[in-house]
Amino acid sequence: MTTPFPIADSSRSPFAGTDVCRQAGLPLPEGTRRPMFDDDRWDFAEVVGLPMAMGMSFRRFDFTTITNSRWRVVAKEQAMAMLVPHHEAVRQLPRAYRTPLHLLSVFKRLSELTRFFNWLTDHGVRSLEELDGDLCERYLHHRRYLLDDNDVVMGERSPGTRRVAAQAVVDLVNHRNLFTVDRVPGDLRPWGGATPSAVAEMPDGHGPNRTPPLAGTVLQPLLAAASYLTTTLAPHAADLADRLRQTGTAEQMRLHPVDADLASLEPVQRIIAILDQYVQSGQPLPQLPDHAVERRLARGWDPHDTLLTINWNAIARQAGYRQKLQPLLTRFRHPAEDAAAAVGIANPWVRNAAQVSKASGEGHVPWTLPLSHMEANTLVGIVRTAAITLVAAVSGMRASELMELRVGACRPPEQYGDGLVRYRLAGKVVKGQPLGGTDDEWVVIEPAYRAVQLLEQLHDNPQVGAPLLGRFTFKDRYKSFRNWVNGPAGHRIGLAPIPEGPVTLRALRRTLAIELAYRPGGVLATKLHLKHIAVATTEGYASRPGGAQAGLLAEVNKHEAERNLELLWAEFRNYQQGVLPGGPGARELSEFFAHIDGKLAPDGAASPKVQRNNREVLNLLSKRARTLHLAPANYCWFTDPARALCLKLAGTPNSDQPLAGMCDSARCPQATHHPCHRPVWADHAQQTAMFLGNLGPTRKTERVRLQADLDRAQRVLDAIDNAAARTENKE
Ligand code: SF4
Repeated sequence: MTTPFPIADSSRSPFAGTDVCRQAGLPLPEGTRRPMFDDDRWDFAEVVGLPMAMGMSFRRFDFTTITNSRWRVVAKEQAMAMLVPHHEAVRQLPRAYRTPLHLLSVFKRLSELTRFFNWLTDHGVRSLEELDGDLCERYLHHRRYLLDDNDVVMGERSPGTRRVAAQAVVDLVNHRNLFTVDRVPGDLRPWGGATPSAVAEMPDGHGPNRTPPLAGTVLQPLLAAASYLTTTLAPHAADLADRLRQTGTAEQMRLHPVDADLASLEPVQRIIAILDQYVQSGQPLPQLPDHAVERRLARGWDPHDTLLTINWNAIARQAGYRQKLQPLLTRFRHPAEDAAAAVGIANPWVRNAAQVSKASGEGHVPWTLPLSHMEANTLVGIVRTAAITLVAAVSGMRASELMELRVGACRPPEQYGDGLVRYRLAGKVVKGQPLGGTDDEWVVIEPAYRAVQLLEQLHDNPQVGAPLLGRFTFKDRYKSFRNWVNGPAGHRIGLAPIPEGPVTLRALRRTLAIELAYRPGGVLATKLHLKHIAVATTEGYASRPGGAQAGLLAEVNKHEAERNLELLWAEFRNYQQGVLPGGPGARELSEFFAHIDGKLAPDGAASPKVQRNNREVLNLLSKRARTLHLAPANYCWFTDPARALCLKLAGTPNSDQPLAGMCDSARCPQATHHPCHRPVWADHAQQTAMFLGNLGPTRKTERVRLQADLDRAQRVLDAIDNAAARTENKE
C-alpha cells in the first residue's frame, strides 16, 4: 500500500509570512530590510558571504517580471523549494530537492522559469492545468534553436541551455503538490519521465577538457609585457597612482586661490598674468585631452589654430574663474600664442618621467610621455591588468578566487635557506564551498607575490581587508591591455606585440596545468600543485576519476611520449655525428645506437650506407623512448628495476617507476649525461667549491663529504667534456 503524499492547503502557501533569509540561513547585517515570502521582490544584495564574483543583478529576484500574477506565487514557492529543501512542506515530496541550491543557481533557474511562464502566457495558456507534453516539446524546441523574426532557424543553442529549459518544466512536475494557486496536471510526464540531462542530450563529461591552452606565440609576449610592466614600470606606476589618489577629481576642479595682486586685475589681464607665469617658470601650457579637442573641432574650431589644444578651463581655474574663457579668447589671443610658442603645450601629468631600460634591451626611454588626467588613470589600470594577468598565469587561480583576494593577502615570506623562500597568498576558495567560501592559501613564485604587492600599491583605498580587485571582467581588461602593448606606447618602450587570439583566465589556468605536467615527475607535481592552490576540482580533474582528470593524464602521457621520442631522436643524431653520451649508462646507450645504425645499413658495413626515412628510425627508437625518464641532471633509461640504484637505496626493488628524488646518476648503470646537463653539473660544482671554501677548519666531516661531492661533479663534467672534445678532434 502506498501512502498518498499530502497536498498543500490550496488557500494559503506554507511559506506565507516567511522570512526568506532566516529560513534559508542567509545572514544579513543588522538593520537590513529582510526579504519576505509575500514580497514580489527579494533583495539578497546584502547577504553576508556571497562571492565577490556574483554581480548585484544576480542578487535581486524580481517576480514582477512574470506576467501572470498567479504564477508569481508558484515561482516563489519553487524558489523556496530550492533554498529550503529541509522545510516540512518540501521534504515530504518524493522528488523535491534534498540539498539547498546556491543563490546563484536559484537565480538562474528562476530566470528560466520566468521565461517559460511568459512564453506560456504569449501562447494563450492561462493555467498550468493546460500544460501537456506537446507544449513542453514546443518550449524545448523554442529554446533549442535560435530563430529569426520569421521563425527561421539560425543556429542551435548549447545542451546546457536545453537542460535548464527542461529542468524548469520538470521542477514544476516534481514540486506539483507544493504549489497552492496553480499546478500542472497530475498525470503530466514530460519527455516520458526522462531526466533534463537526457532530454538535453548533454555530453557525458568524459571528453577531453575543452579549454584550449594558450599558444606559445601569444603566451610569450603576453607574459613578457606583463612582467616588464610589473617590474620595470611598477615603482613609477605606483607613484603615479599615489599622486592620482591625492589629486582626485574634486581637487582637479578646485579653484586656485589667487593672491591680492592677481585679484586686483580685471579678467583678461588676470589670464595674461597667468600665461606670463607659465613663460617665467618655463612650464608648458596645459594640454586638452584628445576627446575634448575632438569636441572643439566638431563645434567648428579651426584645426590649425595654435590655441585649439590648450586647456582653457585649467587656466581659468588658476586665475580663480569657473567661467569659460572662449568668449574672451580674441582679447588675449596674441599673448596666448606667444606663450605657446615660448614654452609649448603639454599634458599635465608625468612631464619629467624617469628613464627606464627598454623592454627590448635597446637603450633607455622615459617610462611614459606626459599624460592627461584620464590617460594617467588608464595607464595605472593597464599596469593593474598586467599584475592580474601575471598572478593568474603563474598561480592558476580562478576568476572567483582572484576576486576574493583582499588587501593584506601577502603572507610574510618564509626563509628556508639561502635563496629558498616560500611566498604565500591568503585567499578564499568559493567554487563548491559553503556560503562565505573557505579560507585557503596559495603558494606562489616571487613574481606573483610581487604583483599582488603592486596591486595593493595601486589600490584606491589600501585598507587591510578591503577587496584587492573587486569584481572585474578580464575580457575587457585584457582588450585594453593588448591595445596598449600593441599601440604606440608599447612600441615606444620596446614591447613585442601580442598576436590576436582569445586570452581568458581559464586558458591561463589550463596552460599552467599543462606546463607543470611536462616537468620531470610532472603529473604528480601537477596534481599536488593544483590541489595546493585549491584548483584540484578544476575542470573536474580530481573529482571525476575516469573523466576530465583521466583525459588530462592521457593528454600529458601522449605529450610525454612525443617529447621522449624527440629527445632520443636528437641523441641518436648526436651519436651519428660523434657526440657520445657520458655517465655509467653511456656504453649501453651507445651500443643501442650502434645497433640501430647497423639496421639502417642492411647490406653490411662495406656497402654504401642507406639512409632510411625518419619514420623507420623513429619506429626503431620508440620502444627505448618509453623507458626514458627526465631528471634535472641526467637521463634515466629505466629498462630494468633490478639495476636501478635509487630503488636499491630505497629498498623497493620491485617498483615500476624510478625514484628521481634518490637518483645518484654518477653511479647508476641506467643513467647517462649529455651536453644539455652540463650547466646543472657546472653550477653544482661551483656551489660546492664555494661551500668548501667557506668551511672552517673544524668541519672535517663536512669537508670530506663536500669534497667527494665536488669530485663526483667534476668527474661528470670531465666525461661530458671528453665526449665533446672527441667530436671536435674528429672534425
Ligand atoms: S638512480 Fe637515477 S638513473 Fe638510476 S634508475 Fe634511479 S632515477 Fe634512474
